[in-house]
Amino acid sequence: MQKITKSENAFEEAKNVIPGGVDSPVRAFKSVGGTPIFIERGEGAYLVDIDGHKYIDFVQSWGPLIFGHCDCDIENAVIDSVKKGLSFGAPTEVETQLANEICSMFENLDKVRFVSSGTEAVMSAIRLARGFTAKDDIVKFEGCYHGHSDSLLVQAGSGAVTFGTPSSPGVPADLTKHTLLAKYNDIQSVKKCFENSNDISCIIIEPIAGNMGLVPADEEFLQHLRTLCDEHGALLIFDEVMSGFRASLKGAQGISSVKPDIVTFGKVIGGGMPVGAFASSAEIMDKLSPDGPIYQAGTLSGNPIAMNAGLASLKKLKSTPNLHSNLEEKAKKLMAGFKASADSVGIPLQVDVRGSMFGFFFNENEVKNFDDALKSDTDRFALFHQKMLQNGVYLACSQYETGFISTVMDDAMIDEVIQIADRVFKEI
Ligand SMILES: *Cc1c(COP(=O)(O)O)cnc(C)c1O
Repeated sequence: MQKITKSENAFEEAKNVIPGGVDSPVRAFKSVGGTPIFIERGEGAYLVDIDGHKYIDFVQSWGPLIFGHCDCDIENAVIDSVKKGLSFGAPTEVETQLANEICSMFENLDKVRFVSSGTEAVMSAIRLARGFTAKDDIVKFEGCYHGHSDSLLVQAGSGAVTFGTPSSPGVPADLTKHTLLAKYNDIQSVKKCFENSNDISCIIIEPIAGNMGLVPADEEFLQHLRTLCDEHGALLIFDEVMSGFRASLKGAQGISSVKPDIVTFGKVIGGGMPVGAFASSAEIMDKLSPDGPIYQAGTLSGNPIAMNAGLASLKKLKSTPNLHSNLEEKAKKLMAGFKASADSVGIPLQVDVRGSMFGFFFNENEVKNFDDALKSDTDRFALFHQKMLQNGVYLACSQYETGFISTVMDDAMIDEVIQIADRVFKEI
């Protein structure tokens, strides 16, 4: 077994001064056991830890790094921007350029506002929906994660599931009473919400859920959500913080025909820098301050370095032909390899792919919602994760996360990982 002494020591030191040793809970490896590896640097498709081990990286900072680590174009955009100053708290042209890049891709999005994280984007989108409709309740789905703001931290997938705290102390029940829970891919459960409340401002959904493992919504289900929203004067919000520019160039909107009223972005949109965004029609967005009454603000919002990183990565995404179909081919190859190896030793495994996103569940049955996902064998996942890590494969450290392919992964790398997985499946 390879030694990770420096990471172990670094983790002990971190725990003295940072709660749990990490700044975001899922990084602590709690659900798979062992010590999180501390990263020294990234190198294309790889991570290098402080003990000098190299890992092929399927986490990619939890999604943003679709071009892998240290992409030259993004790096240069950031360096050029840094030399001109770090932050101004005043408008810059690059914000408009990035907004134009986004709005020109989607006919239902006229205007966009930038923030600094996915959490902020979704929190602001919810306020906008509530302010626009003058209604208070929201419908969210079990297992969908929309960041850690109060009213959304109910049955919130991955991190929250992994730690067995579906909602959190410190969130007043008075706030979450406006959050109605429905079951993913189950339209009856959504209809019930509308029967129980005539104060629903919006339905928020990850149209391709990535925070309970990868669980895409059925097309028909999304169409029903659209109809229900229209019938009841509620807005439909697609949280594409993860799936945006990942599942396809246009995210879920490139796959489904359903048009949401508001879309939230994050992760890929910042090219690795902290960026979030929410976008909608001019009619809805103009209700935001300063033009409208709905308040929303941010000292570092639209930060020029982050905007330049986002602009460089979006331009590169748009100008690279067949980018998502190539990523999807690799993702499918990887998952087919995992599935074949699991089958050969009689381990039940469910696999799925959407563009550069892939997911696998140690589960007997197809996973359509959060309850299905929770029936997965997390002990076996933990063992699989540990052994893959020891063999230089860095997978997300929870059964309820999604994996990502980057453009710097070639077929030889995928083949190598399939071979490693084949050995590991035999051992578990
Ligand atoms: C990651 C994520 C968020 C939260 O974004 P942060 O940048 O971590 O605040 C919100 N929604 C979805 C779907 C996500 O995957």
